[in-house]
Amino acid sequence: MTEFVSSEGPLPHIPDDLSIPQFILDSSHPARQMHNENQPWLIEDGSGKTVGLKEIRPKVDALANALNSSYHVGEDTVVCIFAPNHIDTPILIWAVHRLGGIITAANPMYSSEELTHQVNTAGSKLLIAHSTLLKTALVTAGEAGIPPERVILLDVPSHPQHRTVADLEKEGLNSKTRYTERRFKSGEGKTKLAFFSFSSGTTGKAKAVMVSHYTLIANVIQMAAMYRGFDPNVRWEDKYYRTGDVTTGILPLYHIYGLVLNLHFQLFSGGSYVVIPKFNFVEMLNSIVRFRITHLILVPPMLLLLCKHPIVKKYDLSHVRVIMSGAAPLSQEVIEQLAAVFPNRVIGQGYGLTETATALCTLPRTQKVGFSGAAGRLVPGTVVRLLKPDGSLAKAGERGELMACGPQITLGYYKDDKATKETFLQIDGKRWVRTGDEVLIKENGDLFVVDRIKELIKVRGFQVAPAELEGHLLGHPDVADVCVVGVLDEYSGEVPLAYVVLQPQSAQRIKEDPAAAENIKAAIKKYVADNKSNYKQLAGGVEFIDQIPKNPSGKLLRKNLRAKARSEREVK
Ligand code: AMP
Repeated sequence: MTEFVSSEGPLPHIPDDLSIPQFILDSSHPARQMHNENQPWLIEDGSGKTVGLKEIRPKVDALANALNSSYHVGEDTVVCIFAPNHIDTPILIWAVHRLGGIITAANPMYSSEELTHQVNTAGSKLLIAHSTLLKTALVTAGEAGIPPERVILLDVPSHPQHRTVADLEKEGLNSKTRYTERRFKSGEGKTKLAFFSFSSGTTGKAKAVMVSHYTLIANVIQMAAMYRGFDPNVRWEDKYYRTGDVTTGILPLYHIYGLVLNLHFQLFSGGSYVVIPKFNFVEMLNSIVRFRITHLILVPPMLLLLCKHPIVKKYDLSHVRVIMSGAAPLSQEVIEQLAAVFPNRVIGQGYGLTETATALCTLPRTQKVGFSGAAGRLVPGTVVRLLKPDGSLAKAGERGELMACGPQITLGYYKDDKATKETFLQIDGKRWVRTGDEVLIKENGDLFVVDRIKELIKVRGFQVAPAELEGHLLGHPDVADVCVVGVLDEYSGEVPLAYVVLQPQSAQRIKEDPAAAENIKAAIKKYVADNKSNYKQLAGGVEFIDQIPKNPSGKLLRKNLRAKARSEREVK
């Protein structure tokens, strides 16, 4: 049996009887690095407002009181948060968890159609939205049967029509009754759900990935075990994560990478988290300086700007110690350029999936810069196999589809047994996940992501499910058949391109008037632009094709079109 096992050190005990707030706010785990006294936990970019544990705990309790008494949030109630990163989001998450509820956080770029899909799939009965997104939230609430009084505003102190989180906090602080905290029996954390995080997985539309309390806690501990900041035998100067560090919190909290590694791991490591709602490069540089940020936890397009944008030279960023990338491939070239702009820093990347509650591997402690271009080494407690197309398992140096097992593997897709069975496999009583990524592992344990076998397109780290765009495009009057593939783009990594088979009458129109072709392409692009988030736009273009290649059973041969697109296009 060819299996690759993490050789990055022992994995400490992972508690299976704690909820996430009990683990993060209340417990002292041996792998934990405590905060300095009076150190802020969360810092609001812009206002500079800070909150430490002393404020967080009563806020969480107050919100839990009010959510429970006024909105009956309790066991398995699903609460949807629809907002850019906000300082109250972690507090809300922990309040809902204290009550035994489940959080599903949605991309603030979503249209009402996209949000409704998430709200309905997750079965959410309460919507907490940013005031700028109220219109979209109300359309979704109407479609999902959520009464308008169950739409609460996150960011404003008060509102004439809606209650706000600030109102709830006041109510909860003054409330005479106290909620009963949900406590777990031994082992219960493994199956008790904490989040529905959305991912399209290897195929189809976005699905609700069931993230248990244990899977998130496990990945935080796996990362701590990888970097051993808590270990007195590791010299202070060698520690990548130290008490008192400050991290960017720009990765969205609705995405597993932002939620688990950026927020929870940083807090577990004794760090402060600067809540940054929106990516603006220059403003981010200002925030890095203003808050003396030590850790830049980013995605490849942001790193590309960091090493290429001339304005960077005007900033003194000497306090930055660690630069980490994830969610999409980071080329070796960019790492080298970064290392030139930021000498003597820790620069690396990690790799993982929503389905693995984030990290499968990350830059090892023995490397300061991931010059090899590897996505890292397996985090402690992770075992993987690489499946070759002929069904045999790859050895070191050979490519294969990565299958992974470990405590961070999530429980499957909510109410979707078919997709769960295809992606999550039970082998010898353990849960494995098929990643849909083709990887290669070298003898020394370095893991390289060489290709993506699954349909998924990643635009600036965001997931774009071709099936979702195809389903939508089939509703356009000119489109008879369609296949969406990702084409390479220097800034975004990939962008979607639609191969379209035209309806006969549309093809006829073009025959009669070739100029009509461009109008039809523009109309098709607009049809996506009007209904889908910005990053799902057909930035790769629209191409007409006579027929979509399919195998005898009618399955779309997406790979052929992806190869065609990539061979015909240079990287922009
Ligand atoms: P998500 O569930 O949105 O985190 O997407 C997971 C997918 O992103 C993986 O299956 C990979 O295809 C891709 N991915 C994440 N990290 C990396 C990385 N470091 N290098 C290459 N691809 C990555």
